[in-house]
Amino acid sequence: MDQKKLQFFKKRLFEERDRIVASLTHHEVEIESATSSRSAEFEEASRLDKDREYISGLLTMDTEELADINESLKRIDEGTYGKCVDCGNDIPEPRLEAMPSSLRCLDCQKLNEDRQDFTEESPVAPII
Ligand SMILES: [Zn+2]
Repeated sequence: MDQKKLQFFKKRLFEERDRIVASLTHHEVEIESATSSRSAEFEEASRLDKDREYISGLLTMDTEELADINESLKRIDEGTYGKCVDCGNDIPEPRLEAMPSSLRCLDCQKLNEDRQDFTEESPVAPII
């Protein structure tokens, strides 16, 4: 990938990172304000618990994306950006343009997601 393209993706990644950091800060404030209203009535408290759960879910998603972005930035510096972390093939540029933090080609991404689905869905066998 030429330098001009790399600089373009680097800029996109930095912008994306700023956006996520801002959103993380925002959600953290929400969690704090939900936590500080602990003395609320029971119904109110359980609603707040649900809110907190929802916000924590968002936080996890943001944190994961942030990790991918940091990894992508590292790979730009190392000169391996745009190569799939699993199979080493080039990730198609339109895919990178749509999501600059993509670390895998479509095939590997799909395999990866299937694996995750499998782990999440498979019930934990009780140990007797
Ligand atoms: Zn791949």
